[in-house]
Amino acid sequence: MADTTHEQWLAQIDAELDGELSLVERAALAKHLATCGHCAGARASHLEVRVALARSAGNPHAFVLTRPAIRAGTLALWLVVALAAGLVGGWFASHRWGGPGGGGTLEDTRGTIVVQ
Ligand SMILES: [Zn+2]
Repeated sequence: MADTTHEQWLAQIDAELDGELSLVERAALAKHLATCGHCAGARASHLEVRVALARSAGNPHAFVLTRPAIRAGTLALWLVVALAAGLVGGWFASHRWGGPGGGGTLEDTRGTIVVQ
């Protein structure tokens, strides 16, 4: 039961950081954070994630990071992942072409092509 309550507070923390909570809701959240180190710590790490996302979005001094900005940050993250996947793919390809006889390097193959 306590876990469910914390889940609800964590959702409230997200909403608060998005600027979506009313004053009454923010007051209730502030009251809970004052007595709950668990949620206060979660709020701090949520904020740190947002700071990191704001930095990656080129806006380190943002007051509120809106959801579209978070999506942009996530998009940038996936772009990096896709880029890394492409690099790994290229590495695999060069190894495939680099060693047809099992042992030949890419430089040897180039030499063979020039000779032929
Ligand atoms: Zn709590």
